[in-house]
This record gives sequence, structure tokens and C-alpha cells, in this order.
Amino acid sequence: RGKDTPVCGEEESGARSTVRPALAQCRALSVDWTGPGSPHGLYLTVQVESLKEKLLSQAQEVSRLRAELGGTDLEKHRDLLMVENERLRQEMRRCEAELQDLRATPAASPCPGCEHSQESAQLRDRLSQLQLEVAENKGMLSELNLEVQQKTDRLAEVELRLKDCLAEKAQEEERLSRRLRDSHETIASLRAQCPPVKYVIKTIEVESPKTKQALSESQARNQHLQEQVAMQRQVLKEMEQQLQSSHQLTMQLRAQIAMYESELERAHGQMLEEMQSLEEDKNRAIEEAFARAQVEMKAVHENLAGVRTNLLTLQPALRTLTNDYNGLKRQVRSFPLLLQEALRSVKAEIGQAIEEVNSNNQELLRKYRRELQLRKKCHNELVRLKGNIRVIARVRPITKEDGEGPEAANAVTFDPDDDSIIHLLHKGKPVSFELDKVFSPRASQQDVFQEVQALITSCIDGFNVCIFAYGQTGAGKTYTMEGSHENPGINQRALQLLFSEVQEKASDWEYSITVSAAEIYNEVLRDLLGKEPQEKLEIRLCPDGSGQLYVPGLTEFQVQSVDDINKVFEFGHTNRTTEFTNLNEHSSRSHALLIVTVRGVDCSTGLRTTGKLNLVDLAGSERVGKSGAEGSRLREAQHINKSLSALGDVIAALRSRQGHVPFRNSKLTYLLQDSLSGDSKTLMVVQVSPVEKNTSETLYSLKFAERVRSVELGPGPRRPELGSWSSQEHLEWEPACQTPQPSARAHSAPSSGTSSRPGSIRRKLQPSA
Ligand code: ADP
Ligand code: MG
Repeated sequence: RGKDTPVCGEEESGARSTVRPALAQCRALSVDWTGPGSPHGLYLTVQVESLKEKLLSQAQEVSRLRAELGGTDLEKHRDLLMVENERLRQEMRRCEAELQDLRATPAASPCPGCEHSQESAQLRDRLSQLQLEVAENKGMLSELNLEVQQKTDRLAEVELRLKDCLAEKAQEEERLSRRLRDSHETIASLRAQCPPVKYVIKTIEVESPKTKQALSESQARNQHLQEQVAMQRQVLKEMEQQLQSSHQLTMQLRAQIAMYESELERAHGQMLEEMQSLEEDKNRAIEEAFARAQVEMKAVHENLAGVRTNLLTLQPALRTLTNDYNGLKRQVRSFPLLLQEALRSVKAEIGQAIEEVNSNNQELLRKYRRELQLRKKCHNELVRLKGNIRVIARVRPITKEDGEGPEAANAVTFDPDDDSIIHLLHKGKPVSFELDKVFSPRASQQDVFQEVQALITSCIDGFNVCIFAYGQTGAGKTYTMEGSHENPGINQRALQLLFSEVQEKASDWEYSITVSAAEIYNEVLRDLLGKEPQEKLEIRLCPDGSGQLYVPGLTEFQVQSVDDINKVFEFGHTNRTTEFTNLNEHSSRSHALLIVTVRGVDCSTGLRTTGKLNLVDLAGSERVGKSGAEGSRLREAQHINKSLSALGDVIAALRSRQGHVPFRNSKLTYLLQDSLSGDSKTLMVVQVSPVEKNTSETLYSLKFAERVRSVELGPGPRRPELGSWSSQEHLEWEPACQTPQPSARAHSAPSSGTSSRPGSIRRKLQPSA
């Protein structure tokens, strides 16, 4: 019967439930298949039906729950919260703006000098407090915002979890319905097998025991199906439990949402309260400012009234002022006349005063010139008292170069009580000499310089000065004149002194200092600072008829500082070094001259002075000629002897004030003629080696020194020509051809072994012709 029953109508009507047609089929099948005699089949059918109904209701419940708790609601709620949050933020921003306005208001309208400044300060304090509170509230709000954000995140999480649960449930449902469909299909297939079975049942049930076996198989299959249904039930139960838990979760979430809502409401309330209080503060501040402004206004009004009354009282004062002004105007009109008169009298007074000052100035200038002359004279006198030509000796210390042994033994001693005496032990005999001063090896460069300092400064006053270093090679001439880089000699110290002296006088005098350097070798004069040092220079008479000498082509460098001097020295040295291969030997065979010219102009009088300082490092005085040298060495020696003798002659002639001074006998004396004659000053430093092996040369040097020094300075008549020392005289102490002046000869004898000082040697020298 069930086989013929159509089921498609039922399938069409069950749009909601997909299981209904299967149920109907199943029902029909159970009736057909189990038959009236099978209680198991009936039970199964009922079970399946109730299960389906439960499933249906659960599906409905699930869809209802989904509709009720679905993502849309939660999202809506979240959106609402976000909107609320945004609104609160806007309100906060508005509050901030208001607060800033409030803050700006008192600053924009300051009342200078207002007595309410204290109040305003208090208000400002209050405002800053309020600002602090607002900042705190902002902090709280941001915390709440954070909380809301966290809760929203958690809500989203819960939503996600719920969605996952629902998706799981839907999958489970799908799985169950698929299984149900499978069961239905199994049942349908079984039913399709039904007619032959039915036939077998009907025909064979009573007839054959085989059919009974088939029945039992069917029953077993039925049993299997029942197990399946039980399993389904179990699954359904699990699903129910899951549904329950999701219900609970939903409840929890709802409770959380409610909690969040309440918290949000509380925060909102708090914020409203804060805003309210801020609003109140603002209103209060505005009111206070208003009240203050009113008070100020009142005061201003009062001031205005006072000013008005003042104005009324000032009017008469103004009137008197106008009168005064008119009076003054009249006075001003007559002022130019008065002024002219006053100017006239003042001018007359000033003219008189100027005249007085002028005459005073003239007097002062006259006195100054007189003083200048006097000073020059005094200085001159001082130097003259010391002797215009002075001879000093300097003994160098014993050096490593002197070697060791008896040859290097010291042969020079000094008098502890008289610094002008020197004792020499020559070949076992003691010989003593007296000079103007003797420097022991202990004397420093500065000590020696101190002795010549006065000479050098006299150069600034227009005197010509010559300083010679005389002595055998190695006796320390170059050391005394040039010195070392660390311990400079007279040359550099003299220039430094000149610079500082010139500097001191800079307010009254204008000075220029120039430097030339020359060398005389074999009676040939060369420029050490020129571009061509090998060029021979000539000494000529000035064409202006002044009788002065000059050297055409001799380079002059203007120097202004110690640096300049060093550069000049270096240049001269380089010139000499490149020119001669054995510089040491060459320099000992030539005279080196440093000529410093100091030209000055007195700014007030226009008076001009020129002073020359000649610093001469003479060639070695050792007696080469005697050792029988030949060729160039002999020529060199002859030249040196000639020039040194000529120098001796000149100095002797000058010292004895002879009429004729043989300047022209050598290039050296001829070149220095200007600086040796007249009231010029000369100093000879005789360099002495203290060692035993040099005693012969030392003896000759000292003899030469003493002879130069002991020339008679008496008032003898000036003679046109007194002859000269021979060229060998400076070598041979006993002069070959004595000067015809007896007094000079008388005192020029060596005072060996005596320490007596020739009388009145330091007498004034009259300027030579
Ligand atoms: P000269 O120029 O007479 O030939 P130097 O000036 O070259 O002699 O001196 C010879 C050596 O003796 C040099 O090494 C120099 O440094 C040294 N000398 C000379 N005098 C002194 C002194 N007063 N103190 C120290 N060393 C000196
Ligand atoms: Mg030298």
C-alpha cells in the first residue's frame, strides 16, 4: 500500500523542514516494511519523528537566537558606543577651546598699574588649577576611552566566538541532516527491495525456514539502524549542551555589555559634572572680570573729573606761561647782538691765551732743544770719559776643540780686584796687560753687551760707532759679534736695543733703521746682501762735495723688527755659504761688516740725525806670514796683516789726535773713515784664547790691544802726517818703523809684567779734521 502512495505533495509543502518528506516516506516504509506484526518498526518510526521535530525546533531556536543576538545587534551597540565616544570627544574639544579663551581673556586686557593685579593673579592661579583639573579629567576620559575600546574589542571577540559556535552548529546540523538523508535513502532502498521481500514473507514465512533467516537478517539490520538512531540522539544531546553553553555565553556577554554601558554612563556623568564645574568657573571668572572692569571704569571716570578740574585751574598758569614765553621771545630776538658781543670778547681772550701758549711753547721748545743738546753733550762726555777709543779683552772658555793635556792647559789669569788686568803665562814667564776692561770666560754675552750698550745708543743721537772683534782664529770673535741662535751676540742685541730705544722716542722722533752687510777679502769689498755677492764694490766720494764716502751698489735693507734682522742675517749667511766651499776658513780670512744706519727726524723741530753703527768681525790675526806660507795663503796673510796694521795706525792716529789719519791705507779703514773720525766712537774687543798652545798669539793680540790703547792722548800739536805702522807691525810688536811721534812711541812700549795704568788715557778727543 505504501509503495503506491504518492509523497511528492508533502515534499512541496515542507519548505521549512527538509526532513518532512523523508519522515513521511519513513512512516510509509515502517508501516509497509515492518508490517502490523512488527512493534520495533513502529517504535523506530515514532522515535525518528520526534527527533526530527526536536531538530526542527532547535533549528528554529538557533535562527531566532541568531536573529536576536546576531552580529548586527552587537555591531549596532558598538556603533552606538563609538558615536557616543565621538560626541564626548567633541564636547571635550569644545571645553578646551573655551578654557583657552578664558586663559587668553585676562592676558588680552591687562590693566597696567591696576590695583587688582593681585586679584587677577589669584584668578590666574585658579585658572591654572582649573587647567590642571581639566588635564586630569582629560586623563580620566582617555582612560575611560581606553576601557571602552578594550571592552569593544572584547565584545568583538565574543561576537566572533559566537559566530564560530553558530557556524559549528550549522555544520553539525548539516551533518545530522545528511545522515538522516542517508538513513532515508537506506530505508527507501530497503523499501524498494520490499515487494520481493513481502512476497517472500508472505509466501515463505509459513512455508520455509529460509524465510525466517531472512527475517532475522532484516531484524539485525533494523537493530543496526536503531543503534544509528541512538548515536544520532547522542549527537543531538551534545548539540543541546553546546546550545546551552552558547546561551550562557550570550547571557554573560549581555551582562558585560550592560556593565560597560553603565560604566560609560558613569564616565559621561562625570564628564558632564566636570564640564558643569568648568562652565561655572568660567562664568565666575567672567563675572569677576566684568566687576573689575566696572570698578576700573569708575576710577577712570573719577580721574577724568579730576583732570577736568585740573585743567580749569591750569588755565591761569598757561596764561602766565604765555606771558613768560613772549618775554623770552623778545629776549631771544636781542640774543644775537649779545652773543656777538660775547663772542668778540671771548675771541679776544682766546687770542691772547693762544699767544701766551705760543710764547710758552717757543720757550719750552728752546729749552727742550737746549736740553737735547745738553743731553747729547753729557752722553758724549760720558763716553769720552770712558774714552772715545776703548779696548777691552774677552777670554773665551776652554772648549773640547782645545784638546787635552799640557797644551790645553789654562795660561790666563785675572786680577780679582781690578777687572782691567789680565795675566798671561807665556813660556813660563808671567806677563800682565792693562786694558779698559777684561772679561773672563765666565762673562756672558749680556755682560759684554752691557759694556757696549752706551756706544750703541749714542748711534741714535747721530754718532758713528765702530765695534771691532780682533784676535786669532778660534779666539771667539764670531761668537762675540754674532753669537749663537739661542745666545745672540752684539750684532743682534744691538739691533734689538736700537729698536726698543727708537720705539721709546717714537712720540717725538721718526726713525728708520737700515742694514747692510759686506765682506772684505784680499782687499776686495763685496756686498753680502746683494744679488751678486761676487761683484767687487768700490768706495767713492759723495759727488755732493760733502767729503763723505759711499759705496755704490751696496744693498741696504730697511728693518723694523727682530724678525727682519734674522731674515737679513740668514740671507747674508746663505750668500756667504753658497759663495765659499770652506766657509769657516774663508770667514777667518776675511773681515765681515754689519753696517746699521739710524736716520732720525725730530717731529717738532725737523732736525735730522744720522748715526752709523759698524760691527766688524775681523779676519784672524794669527801670524801666518811667519810660517812661510806660499801662494794664495801668503797673499791672504799679507792682505790681512796690511789691513789690521792700517787699522792699528788709524786708531793710534785718532787716539793721539794726529792731523793726518791714514784711512786710505786699507779698504777697511777707508770704508770706515766716517765712522772712525770726528766725534765717532770706537771699541775694540780683543778676543783671547786661554790655552797654553795659543799663548804666543794671545801675547801678540794683547800687545796689539795695549798698544792701541796706550797711544798718548796728550795735547800735542796736530801734525799733517805722522806716518803709520808697517803692515807687519800688528804682527811684530816691536815696530819696524816707529811713528815719528815720540810721545806715542814712549807709551806704546809694552808694559810686560807691569800693571801700571798709563795716565790720563781717557782724555777727550777733539774731532779730527
Ligand atoms: P773666531 O770667530 O775668532 O774664529 P769663534 O767665535 O768661531 O772664533 O769661536 C771658536 C769656538 O769657541 C766656537 O765654537 C765658539 O762657540 C767657542 N766660543 C768662543 N767664545 C766663547 C764663549 N765666550 N763662550 C763659549 N764658547 C765660546
Ligand atoms: Mg770667526
